[in-house]
Amino acid sequence: MLSTLDELIEEFSDLDPQDQSLYLLELGYELPPFPEHARTEENRVHGCQSQVWLITETEGRGQDAPFTIRADSDSNIVRGLIAILQAAYNGRTAREIIDFDIQAVFRSLHLQQHISPQRRNGLRGMVERIQALALSQLKLSTTNDSAHMPGCRSTAVEAHPSNPSGNGATVRMQPTEIAPGNVADAGSAFNAEQLRQQFPVLCQELAGGMRPVFLDSGASAQKPSCVIEKEREVEEQYYANAYRGRYSFGARVDEELESSREKIAAFINAPNTSCLAFTPGTTIGLNMVAFGWGRKHVQKGDEILISLMEHHANFVPWQQLAKERQATLRFIPLTDDGRLDLDRLPEVLNNRTKVVAICGMSNVLGTINPIDEIARQAHAVGACMVVDGAQSVPHLKTDVQGSEIDFLLFSGHKLYGPTGVGVLYGRPERLDEMDPIFFGGHMIERVYSDHSVWAKPPAKFEAGTLPIIQAIALGTAIAWINDTGLARIHRHEQLLLEEATERLLEISGLKIFGPSTEHKGAIISFRIDDLHPEDLAATLDRNGVFTRHGHHCTMPLHDYLGVSATTRVSFGAYNTQDDIRVLCESVQEAVTRQQKSAVRRSSSTR
Ligand code: PMP
Repeated sequence: MLSTLDELIEEFSDLDPQDQSLYLLELGYELPPFPEHARTEENRVHGCQSQVWLITETEGRGQDAPFTIRADSDSNIVRGLIAILQAAYNGRTAREIIDFDIQAVFRSLHLQQHISPQRRNGLRGMVERIQALALSQLKLSTTNDSAHMPGCRSTAVEAHPSNPSGNGATVRMQPTEIAPGNVADAGSAFNAEQLRQQFPVLCQELAGGMRPVFLDSGASAQKPSCVIEKEREVEEQYYANAYRGRYSFGARVDEELESSREKIAAFINAPNTSCLAFTPGTTIGLNMVAFGWGRKHVQKGDEILISLMEHHANFVPWQQLAKERQATLRFIPLTDDGRLDLDRLPEVLNNRTKVVAICGMSNVLGTINPIDEIARQAHAVGACMVVDGAQSVPHLKTDVQGSEIDFLLFSGHKLYGPTGVGVLYGRPERLDEMDPIFFGGHMIERVYSDHSVWAKPPAKFEAGTLPIIQAIALGTAIAWINDTGLARIHRHEQLLLEEATERLLEISGLKIFGPSTEHKGAIISFRIDDLHPEDLAATLDRNGVFTRHGHHCTMPLHDYLGVSATTRVSFGAYNTQDDIRVLCESVQEAVTRQQKSAVRRSSSTR
């Protein structure tokens, strides 16, 4: 005898997670038989880890005809989930099914916490199929009755690929509700000295009693204790592979990964977690987009538009793709002060442009690029907007929907998180039209001996074992940023930027590359006459000041600037005014030493 919805909710409320799984199994055993003739490909629900077939039956034809869901699976747990859907939906009319808040049922059953993300995807697939069938019944009866069809909560209807008539159409559901980024008020006081205490690596004493002045966050940011502790927690308490085992460690890992995905989605305002794939980092993510999307959509004679300020990660893949596809790589011209010259955008953007790939913030010039405007113009010619967010995401509020970004890539290690993990965000339609470039386990829905069918995103882009611990700890890093306040961090960094710029420019012979501070983020690259960046770095290092020198993976930009190397300082939330003082005094010391040795040299040659 099948339980009613109220009975199920009551039963579930008393159960712990293990018992819930057993109870789901029991429900599965009791599921009524499914008609053999209905086990067809057309009735299969895709996106489920196990096989699922689902049909609906109605008593009568009109709008008031009650529905009965019939479904089956080769997994008994999934059969248990089907029993829940039956308890929730059976006996309701098409309109009631569409209006019914099934998520509230899942919440009262605490289902989301106790089933694996893959099962959750499968459950979502079943709900979408039921809603689609209800919607097509509603349309059918509306056409037949010529009756008024009341407003529908579903936002769009697409024909199911296996059934273009629309019978069995999939309903695109309302985006998952995601709380807006909890960005604290930018105006409140920011105590960087105190905040620094959360970073163990910065609290140590260097030889000679100096404290580290870490000014290389643009390369990799330091991690607060909470991130380090989270990595340790996973290692010590519940480490297991992800999306594989149904034992409690595996379930916990899956849960933590999904929770991290949710935090990331909210952080960049992604419509849902399915459009976020974990990657090893920005570089790999950009290659995935160039060769997974670009190879499919860029043809001979097409154009790819980037800029000279791009990091090699957002330069070389496009250069390679252009070569491979016989396309042309073009560049948005730069202004004299190192901004993208949007007045000249029409010279290089046209209806042959298939991709515009631009960094949100330059890793050398610090320039913050007007992504919204570029995306608008790119879309106007039908191009795809790719944003290298490696430098911008850690410093500026990113809104992938508001900015109409098609693909956004960023790295965990620049976001106060671990190395080895990054994020590929893709607009759902773009992810659907993108091929994976890595193949193997987890990314498939079904492998046949002669071909394979890909899983839905994000699994489609997550072949093999994920960087599990790092991906979980990235969620913790984002929670830390939210708690600290991205806007407050940004404002603090801008104050440091202004102070450092002013003080550095007082040093004779020092030239900063890039625009004035109002157009840039927390990065300063500079050169000093006659003092090679490498020599400067030696003095800085002796004083405990950690900066980077070289071409910073932007050789074309350095060619354009006419220098082979620059010194770069980049700030993070933990930098202080004292760091700026030590930096500037150390630079001055190196300059003075250089001047003295130049004087000595010239007097000895006289
Ligand atoms: N783009 C930019 C602008 C960067 O600064 C970097 C890192 N220096 C990258 C891409 C590459 O990031 P990752 O090394 O994490 O792949």
